[in-house]
Amino acid sequence: MKCSETIKGNKVKQRLREVLDEIGTELQKERLRGKVADYIPPLAQVDPAKFGMAVMLHDGTLISAGDAAEKFSVQSISKVFALTLALGKRGDAIWHRVGREPSGDPFNSSILLELEKGIPRNPFINAGAIVIADILLSSHQPRETIGEIVRFVQSVSEDDDIFIDEFVARAEDHTGFNNAALANLLKAHKNLDNAPPHVLGVYHHQCALAMSCEQLARAGLFLSASGCNPLSGHRIISVERARRINALMMTCGHYDGSGDFAFRVGVPAKSGVGGGILAVVPGIASVAVWSPGLNQHGNSMLGTRALEMLCRQMNWSVFG
Ligand code: GLU
Repeated sequence: MKCSETIKGNKVKQRLREVLDEIGTELQKERLRGKVADYIPPLAQVDPAKFGMAVMLHDGTLISAGDAAEKFSVQSISKVFALTLALGKRGDAIWHRVGREPSGDPFNSSILLELEKGIPRNPFINAGAIVIADILLSSHQPRETIGEIVRFVQSVSEDDDIFIDEFVARAEDHTGFNNAALANLLKAHKNLDNAPPHVLGVYHHQCALAMSCEQLARAGLFLSASGCNPLSGHRIISVERARRINALMMTCGHYDGSGDFAFRVGVPAKSGVGGGILAVVPGIASVAVWSPGLNQHGNSMLGTRALEMLCRQMNWSVFG
């Protein structure tokens, strides 16, 4: 590496440090923070004042702010890792069972599923993620599949301290009537191989993964590095597959708020109702942000603002 490149790299890191500090300071003061998910007690009890952000660059530099080391419920962000795993197992055959179009509907909607004969619009709405969980389950026991998902996330994060919050998983299982309706509808349309309660067990457990922004940013790094771990050079998925997962994050990662997110932020990202967002800046970095209050589409209100500020300040966008 040339000396001038090191200086340029150091300047970017210094700028990032400043930008994250500015974002943290500005958003900590914000009073309008959205509404914390309240469909299960463990999420309803989360302090809405929490705010964390972490950026990991390809050389392994981690720059973080606020509560970036505190674990939270990743919820639908887990759908990115489950999809990656399912593509690794079944390849493009999964696209016979789930589509690749934005739904324009809320995350848990069953309207299109009924109209479109049991083929969910995409793998990031609940119906699609339930099909992916079914694919991962195949002929295994739910416990083995859940273990496989956790181990995969641990391996891409290179961090063993990632686990499922059993309180969240149990609460999801007890209140997941809408997901049960989706699973039964999928089964009725012959798009579920396994018993709905087993598939839901897997799906609700993957949603209950607890991770910090720092761990999530590390876990998403391969998507920003064309499918490779940029630190070890180890390939996790093909370049083409990484591009396609990023394309789905861009078009479907924020449910019926995906268009607005693309317009405001301009990089692929996936949100979860725990208030987290994982964003991918291809060729540069992986970013995770957490602020528990949600906007009207169920996406983190301040998390979106933080990413908007970061991408604008750093001049990051996939749109040129
Ligand atoms: N566990 C949530 C559900 O299935 C996940 C939704 C989300 O994070 O958007 O309802």
